[in-house]
Amino acid sequence: MKKSIYPYDEWKIRESKFRIETNYRNETIFSLGNGYFGMRGTFEEGYSGPNGTSFNATYINGFYEIYDINYAEGGYGFPTYGEAMVNVADSKIVKLFVDDEPFDLLKGNLIEYERTLDMKEGFTERKIVWENEKRKKLEISVKRLISFKRQHLGTIVFSFKPLNFNGKVKLISEVDGNIYYGNETDDMRVGNNMRGKVINTIDSYVDGCIGWLMQSTKRSKLKYVCSVNHDVKTDCHYEIKNYKSDDKICFEFSIDAEKDKTFQLDKFISYYTSRECLEDKLIDSAVNEVVNAKLDGANIIFKEQFDYLEEFWADADVEIDGDISLQQGIRYNEFQLLQSVSKNDIANICAKGLTGEGYEGHYFWDSDVYIMPFFLYTKPEIAKNFVMFRYNLLDAARKRAKELGYKGALYPWRTIDGPECSSYFPAGTAQYHINSDIVLSIKKYVEATSDYEFLYKYGAEIVFETARLWISIGAYIPLKNNKFCLNCVTGPDEYTALVDNNAYTNYMAQMNLEYACFIAKEMARKAPDHFTNIKEKIGLTDEELNEWNNAAKNMYLPYSDDFGIIPQDDSFLYKERLNAKDLEDEKPLLLHRHYLNIYRYQICKQPDVLLLMYLRRELFSIDEVKRNYDYYEPITTHDSSLSPAIFSILANEIGYYDKAYEYFMLTARMDLDDYNGNVKDGIHTACMAGAWSAIISGFGGMMTYPDGLHFMPNIPKSWRSLSYNIRYKNCKIHVNITQEKASFLLVEGEMLKISVYDEEIMLLKGNTVEKEVKKVDR
Ligand code: BGC
Repeated sequence: MKKSIYPYDEWKIRESKFRIETNYRNETIFSLGNGYFGMRGTFEEGYSGPNGTSFNATYINGFYEIYDINYAEGGYGFPTYGEAMVNVADSKIVKLFVDDEPFDLLKGNLIEYERTLDMKEGFTERKIVWENEKRKKLEISVKRLISFKRQHLGTIVFSFKPLNFNGKVKLISEVDGNIYYGNETDDMRVGNNMRGKVINTIDSYVDGCIGWLMQSTKRSKLKYVCSVNHDVKTDCHYEIKNYKSDDKICFEFSIDAEKDKTFQLDKFISYYTSRECLEDKLIDSAVNEVVNAKLDGANIIFKEQFDYLEEFWADADVEIDGDISLQQGIRYNEFQLLQSVSKNDIANICAKGLTGEGYEGHYFWDSDVYIMPFFLYTKPEIAKNFVMFRYNLLDAARKRAKELGYKGALYPWRTIDGPECSSYFPAGTAQYHINSDIVLSIKKYVEATSDYEFLYKYGAEIVFETARLWISIGAYIPLKNNKFCLNCVTGPDEYTALVDNNAYTNYMAQMNLEYACFIAKEMARKAPDHFTNIKEKIGLTDEELNEWNNAAKNMYLPYSDDFGIIPQDDSFLYKERLNAKDLEDEKPLLLHRHYLNIYRYQICKQPDVLLLMYLRRELFSIDEVKRNYDYYEPITTHDSSLSPAIFSILANEIGYYDKAYEYFMLTARMDLDDYNGNVKDGIHTACMAGAWSAIISGFGGMMTYPDGLHFMPNIPKSWRSLSYNIRYKNCKIHVNITQEKASFLLVEGEMLKISVYDEEIMLLKGNTVEKEVKKVDR
């Protein structure tokens, strides 16, 4: 296991030495965002290091440009264009000049440097002592915040104090919209499709301390406005000048700086886009945001941030007593998830959050399967956006199904605004399971929140339309005992593609069909008007409901008597078995081998059957889980960061505690310790959320079955205690687990039935129920 990069601290991430070699990575680690927009941790003053050691970017979630997908050999139904989240105008710029010499960490003399990310306060801070070539020394402090409460607002507090001189100092604050794409990369997981200038300036304006820049993407025709406003706090004399050029607005502060006197510039930044705001309101909205921010002042904005986070942590905090490295890791993950997730339902959560262009800012099944549970059981109001987001893409999914000659809806494997953006269909469109993944997340959402209004008005339509798809692609196959088979599909494991009867897909499709039948029955009884509306809207017939029922009942569910396991698909067990341990030098395989030289083996990138066993845990006995785990673990490379969390959870259940811990460590600090050496390209949001599940479902022992919450806690010997909160059915439970006891306190809500080690318990408000932890030999 690698050594920690950042010193252990419960609430902070700290960088105490600036180094060119680690700069790129730190830009990701210290990135800030609020789910609406995000900035990499690049410097306000700029950076003069060598190419390839920095990537400066600001992203707005769901703000994208369109590009052509060019195939040398195309095919019917191949997506012809893609969408990519684009880097927008850089508004964080505050350049500092002493005697016209620019402040730059790589110039002059850097005497002291420290950067911290404070996860309780929600901002980054750099404290620097720097002297220029002429030995003029300054103390510089830069605080940066992107507000959770005011989704369009960011604030920078930039201050300096001369330590040994009086003289001229200049600050130039800019918004620079001249964004140029040039980099190419061999790693297909990194965004690669934007070239040249993809955003043009339409208009700009400066007046005193305030200004704005309006830009538009060339092809998607999306617009946004970035506005800035400034507030100065100082006793020193200064003058302001403003000017603008093609893609830039600038504000120059010429200061007669005095030794030991602080000059503080508060910069307020806002972004508004035509995705959520009417075009003719963009300028007013952006300007009002920064005018109000200045009126309120930076102190209030920083205080609001603390308050927001205090509330967040009151629900989401997981406390591990006895392991500070994990404590830091899990908090960092949760903090980054909050920074990445959209707080509205027209955007979602990108595979790399708002920290990098990896995977082009696309939304994958990662959201529905891996990330949703974290929000569902801590902040259900955010989870609602996940399911509503999918509803908003339903028309596009219907269109895609039609394009492929199917009925119903087929959700895109990767997208921003709805269209399928995957150009490699074997590991893209063929992952039909995304349909049922979305349905499972709807099912879990409704079970956890009892939000039937959502289900009847929106969710049901998704469930019905996705059910239709399975009927379109499935068939009763005589040589399979006339069972309903789903052929030519790809399961979650991307090292096997286009196979027949992928077990994960078949089981999940069965759930999708069963749930559709169940909801139809329930709605006919409980919400007949809604049901009639949907039936009319989508032309649903009773024959279809029968078809769904039959297909679910007769679904082919693969099983191997020879091995006593579930085969990943019909052909999987007939392939040569590779041992993942022998492939260490080739990891990740996808960057070292042609897919044809991967698909022909039993080798997995990530859990497939095992993921099924976790997601539909109620269907399988512990012995079955163990047999399958033993079979699949040696052939899994974990080349996807989505992998280790699931292994950790299941290893815990079957008593492989050392492994559970090892896998967990890989997820909990994957980005902080940069295990895969690619955090520079962005964080791994699904892995971060997987780490939360690995704690809560693994060590915390919480499983959500259709009948409610089940707990089988058992924490590692090295921990003194683990505590966490769960929101379920409008109740909040506080769970505390020590080596001896597990206690459950109903903090909110009147009563809730839970099950602890298979014993049913009724929790009443304010009462704590304690149970002995069932000791298992670790
Ligand atoms: C994984 C997919 C995942 C994608 C985005 C790939 O490496 O195999 O399952 O959806 O990354 O995170």
